[in-house]
Amino acid sequence: MTAPAPTPDTLDLIGNTPLVLLKGPSEAADCEIWGKCEFANPGASVKDRAALGIIRDAEARGELKPGGCVVEGTAGNTGIGIALVANALGYRTIIVMPDNQSREKMATLRALGAELVLVPPTKYSDCNHFVHTSRRLAEETEGAIWANQFDNVANRKAHIEGTAAELWEQLEGRIDGFTCAAGTGGTIAGVGMGLKEFDETVTIALTDPHGAALFNFYAHGELKAEGSSVAEGIGQGRITANLEGAPIDTQFRVSDEEGLKWVGRLLREEGLCLGLSSGINVAGAVALGRQLGKGSRVATVLCDTGFRYLSTLYNREWLEAKGLPVFDWLERD
Ligand code: PMP
Repeated sequence: MTAPAPTPDTLDLIGNTPLVLLKGPSEAADCEIWGKCEFANPGASVKDRAALGIIRDAEARGELKPGGCVVEGTAGNTGIGIALVANALGYRTIIVMPDNQSREKMATLRALGAELVLVPPTKYSDCNHFVHTSRRLAEETEGAIWANQFDNVANRKAHIEGTAAELWEQLEGRIDGFTCAAGTGGTIAGVGMGLKEFDETVTIALTDPHGAALFNFYAHGELKAEGSSVAEGIGQGRITANLEGAPIDTQFRVSDEEGLKWVGRLLREEGLCLGLSSGINVAGAVALGRQLGKGSRVATVLCDTGFRYLSTLYNREWLEAKGLPVFDWLERD
């Protein structure tokens, strides 16, 4: 086993995450299912990669200057990544977030020193949506850039150059399929594009939660959402700039119940405490593995840590209130 090389720069701790074989999912699909441990990033989520990529890109283009400010609208994880990177580089952070996201994310953002602006959850078409509010705030703030993770392709570039290249190296060039869900689409598009550059026969599958419109788009060419999901950070209703040209070969739709089943199994059987988007990704990976056949090799993303959802996914009352199945080991408060 080789330990990572020592580094003088904390930002080098972003990326180069471990890859682990997921035993239960591999057995269920009769193939190899590998999980990229994005919860091992300093901000405990996959979004550290996009945060660093976007900030470095803005610096390189001369838009973000010393002592400047980064403004973003985010479900939370991107904000946490931006706050850490901005702290390391001496920038101020302003984060606009819908107020229905987990308490842990809000507390974390405040603890990191980000200035937090909470807005009610609204449709994207509403001018007070968190994305539009963050754009306006960036325009009004001196020396600020708007990170614009949904439509800034520096986001997916971080996955082409980072996540995809790492997966290819870690799996020694033998990978049959990759799948994950989309929030901004940076991960699925970037990893898809990057892997196809190495081997165009790798199957790229979108795993969509209920309530998102992408499954219908890739299956039938129509952006149409059905149902709903409590998963945070995923579930997209439009083709973002990051999703444009994404090489999606096939698609699956996964319910919260199915995702939660894998969250529970990975915790109790394999000692991994994850968020719901990871469970939904793993359910998609099992479906893709079954489709690709016995012995195939599939990778997915374990997006963030479950410690971020102690008041929701790992809370009996919250699960009951949402009408979701409750893990049988959870006590009442
Ligand atoms: N899972 C979680 C928990 C997230 O916060 C995000 C980012 N919004 C994603 C998955 C999706 O990643 P991406 O934005 O690259 O599509």
